[in-house]
Amino acid sequence: MIKMTTPIVEMDGDEMTRVLWQLIKDKLILPFVDLKTEYYDLGLQHRNKTKDQVTIDSAHATQKYGVAVKCATITPNKQRMEEYPELMEMWKSPNATIRSILDGTVFRAPITLDCIKPTVRTWEKPITIARHAYGDVYKAAELLTDEPGECTLVFKGKSGKEQQVPVHKADSPAVWLAQHNTDNSIRSFARSCFRYAIDTNQDLWFSTKDTISKVYDGHFKTIFDEEFESFRADFDRIGKEYFYTLIDDAVARVVRSKGGFIWACKNYDGDVMSDMISSAFGSLAMMTSVLVSPDGKYEYEAAHGTVTRHYYRYKEGEKTSTNPIATIFAWTGALRKRGELDNLPELSAFAEKLENASLDTMRQGIMTADLTGLTENDFKTKQVNSWEFIDEIAKRLK
Ligand code: NAP
Ligand code: MG
Repeated sequence: MIKMTTPIVEMDGDEMTRVLWQLIKDKLILPFVDLKTEYYDLGLQHRNKTKDQVTIDSAHATQKYGVAVKCATITPNKQRMEEYPELMEMWKSPNATIRSILDGTVFRAPITLDCIKPTVRTWEKPITIARHAYGDVYKAAELLTDEPGECTLVFKGKSGKEQQVPVHKADSPAVWLAQHNTDNSIRSFARSCFRYAIDTNQDLWFSTKDTISKVYDGHFKTIFDEEFESFRADFDRIGKEYFYTLIDDAVARVVRSKGGFIWACKNYDGDVMSDMISSAFGSLAMMTSVLVSPDGKYEYEAAHGTVTRHYYRYKEGEKTSTNPIATIFAWTGALRKRGELDNLPELSAFAEKLENASLDTMRQGIMTADLTGLTENDFKTKQVNSWEFIDEIAKRLK
């Protein structure tokens, strides 16, 4: 039994991923590791029962211990309010709550296999997308006007000082938008990116449109340059670079690249580009995600949701072929990081072995349904359900 010293913050979740969560623990972790976790049930019913306090508590525990692993959770919407009539409120997305408490940036990277070629043939290594998760068009003020007129942007300082800039004189009805970001948020974003690049031994690219948006995007670039100074020595030490370029140039370079770097994007760019990258690499079920705070706290999860459609079939008695890989890699990410922080090489080595056993299973053609259709033509596959798949991984792990 592999020993642990500090607990991992365990955030349980909903639906199909909650089913897989237990299965992964029972078959792939508990037989090998004397697992220490501090358990938080972020399943929708329990969030509701605690008026969402459990989500806040789990984020604070992550600040305390430094490493968390999270199962996918339901973000309630109107339809869910009908499905769960006991809900007191349309609770906020747990991910948004945790992200804002940890002030973190989300890094998403695909798990790749030789037998599944990315759409872009030059890509040999995963590309990690870092998306700034605050502000810009996601927290903008919008206005629709129905006559000719003039718009001005006014800022009133706390000191009483006022600054303003004319926006436009419109000679017809028009539409307007004012967006913002804060120095604090951009600085945290920059620090999380530099930290994660050093952590994972990768180059960091950052792109904006500062030729057009000279002040706004220019400010992002300036802050990144400033923050880079405290990380420059570490980048030199590991022989990696921080590289800034225009978003159009970045897109062209990404498509011609071999992969193996982190691409930091502003909020909207990151939203769009992460969908592009994940679908070009294959399956959403193979995307990992980690939230990294500027002071080095880590929360690992799968990028996908609770796989609702599979869950309904599971409740009807079907053994679904849902892919547990991204959830397994969330666990291995957390175990490896815990091993590094607590100087427990055996724990980190176990994480590596579990990843290899998972990859070997797929390399030998044993896969869930989402992957069998994506493999190269001559590659022989055997489609299995999640239970059989996890048993196959356990067999190799043993
Ligand atoms: P989803 O759960 O990611 O599933 C969308 C579809 O993608 C599935 O129906 C399935 O396609 C495929 N898929 C995703 N993960 C898969 C896996 N592991 N194995 C096989 N197929 C997989 O997204 P959603 O249906 O939009 O959202 C469901 C719930 O998840 C929502 O309540 C949402 O709020 C929540 N959500 C949570 C998170 C999070 O906690 N981080 C993120 C996103 C969504 P097929 O049905 O065609 O097989
Ligand atoms: Mg999107």
